[in-house]
Amino acid sequence: ATPTAVMVGTGVGANLGVLAKGGAALEHAAACKVVVFDKTGTLTQGKPRVVGCQAYKMTEDDLIRAAASCEQHSSHPLAGALRRAAQQRGLKLLRVDDAKDVEGLGAQANVGDLGASVAVGSSRFLRELGVDVVEDETTQRWRQEAATVVHVAFDRRFAGSIAIADAPRPEASLVIAWLHRQSIDVWMCTGDSSQTADAVALQVGLSRNRVRAGQLPRDKRDLITELQNDGLVVFVGDGVNDAPALAQADVGVALGAGSGVAVEAADVVLVGDDLRGVSTALDLARHTYNRIR
Ligand code: ADP
Ligand code: MG
Repeated sequence: ATPTAVMVGTGVGANLGVLAKGGAALEHAAACKVVVFDKTGTLTQGKPRVVGCQAYKMTEDDLIRAAASCEQHSSHPLAGALRRAAQQRGLKLLRVDDAKDVEGLGAQANVGDLGASVAVGSSRFLRELGVDVVEDETTQRWRQEAATVVHVAFDRRFAGSIAIADAPRPEASLVIAWLHRQSIDVWMCTGDSSQTADAVALQVGLSRNRVRAGQLPRDKRDLITELQNDGLVVFVGDGVNDAPALAQADVGVALGAGSGVAVEAADVVLVGDDLRGVSTALDLARHTYNRIR
């Protein structure tokens, strides 16, 4: 492509809400064979809400209050869902200290009023803390319905489980179908459980063998490296627990409403916060670099 063509391509992209940082991003996008999507906040809307609750030896309100208190300072989308649930129930949050986010696993804080350290997160997270996590038909059903299950513990005692649902973006299946028609290999990766991930995959038109679940941020990056053996890889994420993957990909695509970290790590930013920007970016890149098939 001539410098003029690249300038025109970048300019047209900007008008369409696809901000490419330099010509290399478009050149790589034109030749890409694989696209990997993050699940939460990327294939899903990132507007999660609490849809179920199962408390042990306490009321549902006590469970939600403890979980939301623990997540008071977290910027994770699941934390927001727990805080909104507490608010809707009219629950006042408890004071916490030493609150911390454990990337890709959960959150933890000391809750003085409860005289306990509260942990909220995946079953893996709580089991690693030595909690005897109880999963039953209800937790299985929640996952089959595509909800994320988080468990809560007071010190090392299991306190209950909360289901949090986040619907797929309406354009997700459309964009994935388009990519498939372009003979692009499409993957989804997530830190969530495999059952929830499979249920979301079904909703957006991905097959199970294109799903990697239970992935920590570094595992997502390693998946990108693995797929790079077969060609150039595009990764699409929102920057929450996926910044290493965004940086590793040949083309890191960040959703516009994503975090500052995402925008920094990305090669392309979709201003419109709409996944159709992915097909627009690839189409534009191919036109710019004359690789239309
Ligand atoms: P994804 O890869 O789908 O974007 P994350 O990597 O952010 O998801 O999180 C993976 C899993 O870890 C979540 O499904 C949840 O079980 C747990 N988790 C991570 N952060 C939190 C948090 N702040 N509060 C509760 N659970 C969390
Ligand atoms: Mg995410």
